[in-house]
Amino acid sequence: MTTAVALIVAAGRGQRFGGEAPKQYQPLAGRPLIRHCLEVFAAHPLIAAVAAVIHPDDRDRYAAAAAGLELLPPAIGGATRQESVLNGLESLEALAPDRVLIHDAARPLVDSAIIDRALAALDRAPAAIAAVPLTDTVKRATGDDDPMVAATVDRARLWRAQTPQAFRYADILAAHRSLAGAGLTDDAAVAEAAGLPVALVLGAEENLKVTTAADLSRAERLAAGGPLEFRTGSGFDVHRFGPGNGVMLCGVAIPHDRGLEGHSDADVGLHALTDAILGALGAEDIGSHFPPGDPRWRNADSASFLAFAGERVAARGGRIIHLDVTLICERPKIAPHRAAMIDRIAAILGLPVGRVSVKATTTEGLGFTGRGEGIAAQAVATVALPVDH
Ligand code: MG
Repeated sequence: MTTAVALIVAAGRGQRFGGEAPKQYQPLAGRPLIRHCLEVFAAHPLIAAVAAVIHPDDRDRYAAAAAGLELLPPAIGGATRQESVLNGLESLEALAPDRVLIHDAARPLVDSAIIDRALAALDRAPAAIAAVPLTDTVKRATGDDDPMVAATVDRARLWRAQTPQAFRYADILAAHRSLAGAGLTDDAAVAEAAGLPVALVLGAEENLKVTTAADLSRAERLAAGGPLEFRTGSGFDVHRFGPGNGVMLCGVAIPHDRGLEGHSDADVGLHALTDAILGALGAEDIGSHFPPGDPRWRNADSASFLAFAGERVAARGGRIIHLDVTLICERPKIAPHRAAMIDRIAAILGLPVGRVSVKATTTEGLGFTGRGEGIAAQAVATVALPVDH
């Protein structure tokens, strides 16, 4: 019985999509991008173990993304992809598997059939890679600026390399050790340079590499298994001023000469946002999930209500596209705290800050907010969800 281990390469920094986290930790269909391929390899009956190679700054992100999966401890990557893979291969030395599949975390939609084909090909060759034959006619350009066609390239026998790339472990470890620092961009190139024949097996167009925000959208559509629809929900909340020396607004504690009354921490901003998200889902309202009479929610941190709504979106295979909340009061002044509020809301939901908006207005001294009797908040949430028929 031969053993096969999967090595998931996730140490790169690459392009970010405006969020705090590198792309391999950005959400895809409600789960971190890297988790998709970790789940596929961990569930495959011929894969005995799965290890990732991660960036040293990503230990916490990885631990969160991999929670609940049975995986080997991650290896820490190096300055280049090639160095990272070598570190990963070295980390498997005590295990000494017969075979290793090396896969880029940026390809979340790998499937078990591709893994089957790559492993099966190792019976006839020392290395095998997933790849897709070129179907478009290929042109060579005269240059990068204002390009003209210099030649039509014969596309016969041209393939685009993907991952996973499968190897006999001892071969690829020796090849990586001897070619360290050669600057090769995939592991098949390392095998080729070491003189190992490499078999081509069919990958899939769906096994795309997520490099740009457009790739992420395409992966999102594919992962959803169908079209997405966009839903909008609104939320509104009011809390009355009472004795106190500060208010909690959009997750930020603000010193004030009064407090807000409420069963929880009375954060009107987070309550309105929570209701807006629940509204987009058609999932009742904050009061039905967290009844005000329930002692569990006394003085509760409203961040947990908002996080709950975000988890409901993820559980439906959706994602939050945008949130916009308006705080309505004469005092305290909101503008000095706006950036902190946006940061806090984005952090609670794991969103890029560019997808969160916090605004404020007075009512020109009119009405209950104008008289300083309380604070109101209204919010709009835009959510993408798989279409359910
Ligand atoms: Mg409320």
